[in-house]
Amino acid sequence: MLSLSKLADIPIRLHREIPDDAILKQVTLKKEPTGEWFATFGVEVDREPPKKPDRPKNTVGIDVGILKYAHDTDGHAVESIDLSDERDRLECEQRKLSRKERGSNNYEKQRRRVAECHADLKRKRRDFLHKLSNYYAREYDLVAVEDLDAKGLVELGGNSRNRAGAAWGTFLRMLEYKCDREGTHFVAVDPAGTTKECAACGVSTDKPLWVREHSCPSCGFTTDRDWNAAWNILSRGIKQVGAGRSESTPVETALPTGTYSVPAKRVLEAGIPTLKREPSGER
Ligand SMILES: [Zn+2]
Repeated sequence: MLSLSKLADIPIRLHREIPDDAILKQVTLKKEPTGEWFATFGVEVDREPPKKPDRPKNTVGIDVGILKYAHDTDGHAVESIDLSDERDRLECEQRKLSRKERGSNNYEKQRRRVAECHADLKRKRRDFLHKLSNYYAREYDLVAVEDLDAKGLVELGGNSRNRAGAAWGTFLRMLEYKCDREGTHFVAVDPAGTTKECAACGVSTDKPLWVREHSCPSCGFTTDRDWNAAWNILSRGIKQVGAGRSESTPVETALPTGTYSVPAKRVLEAGIPTLKREPSGER
């Protein structure tokens, strides 16, 4: 129950528990276009976040992919969440809205339906990003990603670029605060050349977007394009944190074992991508 003095007692549904020792600082009420009301609580807790380890042992680099949502150095290729049904429904409801007479009762009803579709789409995407970021923040001591501002999303066109950029930004923000909460290093590295550079020997080779394989002309190291990038991101992350292991590149200590394809559905249902599975053998 939310009691607002001079206003009302309002029954509410908590999406997350408020800790007992939290001091309530402010409440923000917001009405969504769907007609639902949301109350956001700003609280303060007198608690130190867990200390981040000086020498992180369990480290991961994540590359945001185009074909797959995220590709990490442990060989997970997490597939993008498929929201095409939700998007089709939204477009359909929007078309219906455009045929209604503005200001009429039916228009208002339809406008609300469109807003519900929007909210549904947003909720599903956020749910996916929350579960994925939870997984990385909890499972590892150090998480390295590419800095979004510098990340060349130019490889993608128009709508998909905006969508990928927005989702990536949300994912990074979630990942950052969750890492702080879990005592995990979060490092955003300079993404320049992460796909071109060889994770094994460091030599750069130009690579057009359609070349999905990294095959180094200098040392012969061959692996998946995104996987190679993920390792470069991790190496830069470890160096940036100054976490001792920078002397040897990670590839020397852990050679590729294969790629595990992780469907978005698994992330949503189990909360985490499965770790220990037989390599799919596709590479
Ligand atoms: Zn090489």
